[in-house]
Amino acid sequence: MLMSQLYSPTLRETPAEAEIQSHKLMLRAGLLRRSATGIYTYLPLGLRVLRKVEGIIREEMDAIGGQEVLLPIVQPAELWHETGRWSDYGAEMFRLQDRNGRQFCLGPTHEEIVTALVRSEVRSYRQLPLRLYQIQNKYRDEIRPRFGLMRGREFVMKDMYSFDRDEEGLDKSYWDAYHAYERIFTRCGLEARPVEADSGAIGGDVTHEFMVLADAGEDLVLHCTTCSYAANSERAEGVSVKRDPALAQELKELTEVATPNASTIEQISAFLQVRPQDCIKTLIYLADGKPVAALIRGDHELNEIKFQKFLGVATLELADSITIYETTGAPVGFAGPVGLKIPLYADYAIVNLYNAVVGANKDEHHLTNANLERDFQVEAFADLRETQPGDPCPRCSGTLEGARGIEVGQVFKLGTKYSSALGATFLQEDGTETPLIMGCYGIGVGRTVAAVIEKNYDEDGIIWPMSIAPYHVIVVPVSIKDQAQAEAAEKLYQELQAAGVEVVLDDRNERPGVKFKDADLIGFPIRVTIGSKSLEHGQMEVTIRRTKEKLNVPIDEVVATILGIIKDGE
Ligand code: ATP
Ligand code: MG
Repeated sequence: MLMSQLYSPTLRETPAEAEIQSHKLMLRAGLLRRSATGIYTYLPLGLRVLRKVEGIIREEMDAIGGQEVLLPIVQPAELWHETGRWSDYGAEMFRLQDRNGRQFCLGPTHEEIVTALVRSEVRSYRQLPLRLYQIQNKYRDEIRPRFGLMRGREFVMKDMYSFDRDEEGLDKSYWDAYHAYERIFTRCGLEARPVEADSGAIGGDVTHEFMVLADAGEDLVLHCTTCSYAANSERAEGVSVKRDPALAQELKELTEVATPNASTIEQISAFLQVRPQDCIKTLIYLADGKPVAALIRGDHELNEIKFQKFLGVATLELADSITIYETTGAPVGFAGPVGLKIPLYADYAIVNLYNAVVGANKDEHHLTNANLERDFQVEAFADLRETQPGDPCPRCSGTLEGARGIEVGQVFKLGTKYSSALGATFLQEDGTETPLIMGCYGIGVGRTVAAVIEKNYDEDGIIWPMSIAPYHVIVVPVSIKDQAQAEAAEKLYQELQAAGVEVVLDDRNERPGVKFKDADLIGFPIRVTIGSKSLEHGQMEVTIRRTKEKLNVPIDEVVATILGIIKDGE
């Protein structure tokens, strides 16, 4: 490829729309352009990188017996009604109608359509296991599309679905995919850490996310400093706590105090001169429509996913102000456990809390010295709060540390959630008919590219790992007007191409500084500079982008040297 013809409009200034490095650099290096919020065009260099990541994914999916298919993006609503996800998916789903008023969506994921595909053909255990995958655009009308490819509304995903006859088969599919993911991310030059995660709207119970630890990450990963435990903070387990007589304190007198204009924990603790950890928040929720309360220590946050799982309900939402008034007799901000006639569930951090400040269920009033057992009872204690850095590890005696993470992939054991709902069954060896046992496995392909950049850049631009670089080499004659340089450059360009090297020749009549800046910004792993002086010495200068190391190589060894560097880098 000739640089003069490459459609890679580089920018000297950082566009205002970009906040994080990967997004800024993809725009500046001319890899990407925005069409609408969360919707992007890949320019030629960006697409080459994407295709390389896809190529690695394909090889690893094929290596574990995956077969590639291409499922439709436009999916009929009926299938989604069968699983109940037409309504569950909510506003994130892009919906459309055909000319006859029939409803469709743009696939945010493909469990329904792939399960419907196999239900009509897979009849016998003999046809299992089956692993189907695709690499294709997904559509999600995200609440907060941002950071370029990190969180788009249209984005490329690899999704694989496994179908097995029993749990043992599913286990094998799951761990095959898990290990394939480890290889994929390593081959892309990324360290992606598998962490325990929550399964969200997809369903199932065993799942890992692959996290790239980086400041730009939107997730919080908690990992133990002593053992290998690591989990998304949404999912990280707390440690169960028992009431310990040794921690008991003298029970002081329950007292009602006026707290004008103080309804948040911050305001209360400032007003009453108590620490937030001596207060209890009483949060009123509607669990499957019925009011319940969660008691959380003042300095902690409720984890709604844990609360919903613990209650085992289909829906859980914060109660509206009318329900709160009807249940507590007070406006929002003054609910408390004493005298409250709905089921109370308390986080473990409350177990050994004495003489706490709680809401009085009365406008602008709180109670001090509220005590469990004497003043209120709870249905149960549970792990209900958001686990935080500094909390004890649930697996060993270590402590959890926090780090930001980018979720580049996730693997799920789905079980029979979709096969049961859609009637995808098969005949076991003994003739019984049972639902297929499924798993699903996603990788954000564009997000992986962005994550690679987040981990590989410097003040001059992107530093591509060799395996996914858009081109391996750029050949830069210092002056294209100099005939000897131009000829030597052209000759090397031809030789490198003949040797299978992906190479760009910078044939532009530009100052060397401009050409070097673009080469560094785009991030070609290897630059060959051809100047008059080095040619006189029978040499060319080979520069390694990552280390800035410069080698003066005899002209007839340049191709071999480059082949060696590429091989070492892949
Ligand atoms: P997130 O929690 O980040 O919203 P998710 O858990 O909903 O993602 P999955 O359904 O697990 O996403 O999708 C598989 C993979 O697709 C994710 O691991 C992620 O890498 C990628 N992905 C998900 N949503 C987006 C998006 N909006 N833009 C780019 N990539 C995405
Ligand atoms: Mg996920």
